[in-house]
Amino acid sequence: SILNEHIPMFNYNEARIVAKLNANENPYGPSPKVIKAISDSISLGNRYGHGEAKVLIDMIAEKEGVTPDHIMLSPGSSDILEKVAFVQFMNGGNVVSADPSYMSLMNTAQKLGATWKPSLLTGDYQHDLEAMAKSVDSETNLVYICNPNNPTGSITDATKLKAFCSTVSEKTPVFVDEAYLEFLDKPEESSMVGLVAEGKDVIIARTFSKVHGMAGLRIGYMVALPERIESITSKVRSTMGLCVTSLNGAIASMKDPSFITSCRNMNTDCREYTKGEIASLGYDIIPSHTSFMIFPIRMEGQAFMKGMYDSGVGIRVFNIDDKPWCRVSMGTKEEMEIFVDAFKKVTA
Ligand code: PLP
Repeated sequence: SILNEHIPMFNYNEARIVAKLNANENPYGPSPKVIKAISDSISLGNRYGHGEAKVLIDMIAEKEGVTPDHIMLSPGSSDILEKVAFVQFMNGGNVVSADPSYMSLMNTAQKLGATWKPSLLTGDYQHDLEAMAKSVDSETNLVYICNPNNPTGSITDATKLKAFCSTVSEKTPVFVDEAYLEFLDKPEESSMVGLVAEGKDVIIARTFSKVHGMAGLRIGYMVALPERIESITSKVRSTMGLCVTSLNGAIASMKDPSFITSCRNMNTDCREYTKGEIASLGYDIIPSHTSFMIFPIRMEGQAFMKGMYDSGVGIRVFNIDDKPWCRVSMGTKEEMEIFVDAFKKVTA
């Protein structure tokens, strides 16, 4: 595929970055209540966090409308993407997904010997569910959906996606990565988690890294049928990977919904501001439902990235359809102003 490669950014010295807008991190988090909970629990660091894990699992189960045996905690959702790939593709097979999309699971699957069957997004950047359903064959061990999608920021219609997941999960598990779900105004309406409660073989991944502002603290969870969770816990991971401070932080974050609402609102404001500024320069931005946005640029990708990093602004450049695209994460309002100023200077 020519799509979805990003130009490496690691040659640049991050210490000089004044606006770090390259990793879809939340500039406001973690919440003050999370910081307090973590500080208070440092002294518990001599004990394993099994009790705290149970508390968090029970809270998540209640919120998602499933029993606790449908929940698996993990250090970030990356671990879920990886471990699901290990179990599903240890004997090869193929994985169906959109292109471009978030490549973590497909990369792991391919390293294990599986084949990636990409399916281009539709003209309005939704998953092409019809094409993806057709692409599923007897060798397909998993379908990966990212909704809202990274790196496009676009959303696939929830009603259509629900029908797709219901049907396709009769043949193969459907993994729905909902890392950016909480940036939607009504996240619960777009989540596929209800299908798990209905007994469908759908695997949902969620993370505290994005709207909760806890990327460096490494907490995420999976909602799936108990037998799916068992397929992972019995083969490729223990319950020992979680840290008591982060568990207590996640518990505190779940008890602080007003922080989530304020992050969502500030994110929306910054997105509107940035969209307005960049669109007024004549760029076509894919309508974003997330904490980042992407648009094609009119200069060579590496030179653009160097110019931006030299101006202290970290962004990512993706090659999509053989053209360079700028993906910029939403920072604070001040950081977005720095981004816009640098963008004007570099592209002038
Ligand atoms: N899924 C998507 C779509 C992402 O964009 C990311 C990170 O950017 C992740 C999963 C992994 O994040 P984490 O491991 O911090 O939960």
